[in-house]
Amino acid sequence: MLSSKHLFGTNGIRGLANKELTPEIAIKIGAAIGTFFKRGTLVVGYDARTSGPMLAKAVIAGLNSTGCNVLLAGMAPTPTLQFTVKNHKVDGGVIITASHNPPEYNGIKVIWSDGIEVSHEQELEIEKVFFTDKTHLAEWNAIGETRELPGVIDEYIEAIEKHVNVKAIAKRRYHVMVDGANSVGSLTSPRLLRELGCRVTTINANIDGTFPGRPPEPRPENLGDVAMAVKAVGADFGVAYDGDADRSIFIDEKGEIHMGDKTFGLVEKYFLKANKGEKIVTPVSSSTLIQDIADEYKGKIVWTKVGSVTVAQTMKTLKAKLGGEENGGIFYGPHQSVRDGAMSTALILNIMAKTGQKLSKLLGELPAYYLQKGKVECNDNLKEKVLQKLIEKTKGLKTNTLDGVKIWFEDKSSILIRPSGTEPIYRLYAEAKTEKKAAQLVKDYSLKLKKIIDGLRN
Ligand code: MG
Repeated sequence: MLSSKHLFGTNGIRGLANKELTPEIAIKIGAAIGTFFKRGTLVVGYDARTSGPMLAKAVIAGLNSTGCNVLLAGMAPTPTLQFTVKNHKVDGGVIITASHNPPEYNGIKVIWSDGIEVSHEQELEIEKVFFTDKTHLAEWNAIGETRELPGVIDEYIEAIEKHVNVKAIAKRRYHVMVDGANSVGSLTSPRLLRELGCRVTTINANIDGTFPGRPPEPRPENLGDVAMAVKAVGADFGVAYDGDADRSIFIDEKGEIHMGDKTFGLVEKYFLKANKGEKIVTPVSSSTLIQDIADEYKGKIVWTKVGSVTVAQTMKTLKAKLGGEENGGIFYGPHQSVRDGAMSTALILNIMAKTGQKLSKLLGELPAYYLQKGKVECNDNLKEKVLQKLIEKTKGLKTNTLDGVKIWFEDKSSILIRPSGTEPIYRLYAEAKTEKKAAQLVKDYSLKLKKIIDGLRN
């Protein structure tokens, strides 16, 4: 995924370990990051991938060479490391993780002093240093030092507990099934839950960088085992994390797996009940359900482009307290304005304890929508022209063109049409009150899109 012009993709630097992302390149990236930070102290940590410790050492060598000091937090979830940067008031952080990508990948995320990933403009500055070889190596007597930073998981769990009613949750004695994806989610969530008085049963909780249990992306097709386990032990719910535990997908007591915007909608509802008029930040890919809840409970939706960094940066600019994505990312500002799987789990428990309702009932009360997806082939060089034509042709409809084209219709159905960033295709995501209507929207707009593409080709 690394290119000759750019290091950063939509979610930090990603590449195949020891093929694209080698220790040599990681040292150079570390030195570019160190030059960008101009000395200072950075927290470094990694997820459970086999290449994690190796790449961390290389990045640290690069950072130290530019005079940056490093606090090595070791293996931990991304949100734990982000919280540590903020909590220890250091200058920034570097996280070695490829999040939900397959085990052979790894990546590098750069964190600013507030715990949020650096902005796109800051990424460009780091890339400039990297590609123009402008790294600034320190004199021999100014080389940075590295020391270990123990206890970050304790501090993180303690911080989460401050945002929920611990006693009310503990009273209910919930039984929770945790699927840690054989990665860092297993280091925090089971402990947090036990401290909240829950009985915890785990699946895929042994740390193993080959991800033997399931792929690290918590998509419904990867969560059959945990869904079955929830029912088998009669748990109150199940929760499954991605490879770096910033995203969480919930399974109700009946074994039903819920999409991320459903649980985000539930958190949004109870947040707005207590905080009327607040802004809710969410990408245009989210369900209309998020808008419906905002309308009912007096919230204001701020739509963004797709991507967790954009959501976090928008929350920061607007001082918004809640954000969320359909993929299971919930950003709870009072704790930190980044996706956080363990915090999301605590918020869901808090709502269950407060209402005394089962998860299936709480989620079942929210407006229901059906989702249908489609794709249309389109050469990369035509994508921009197709988008312009599409925007022209949809003028007069209720649209948002921040990221592709999203169209909302009178009957509450909607469709998002956006060019893929990695493949020569356009993707279509339709949503409606019936499955049939959603499928019809995909069909209609696939045809319209093909016509535009054919027209531009000739
Ligand atoms: Mg992730």
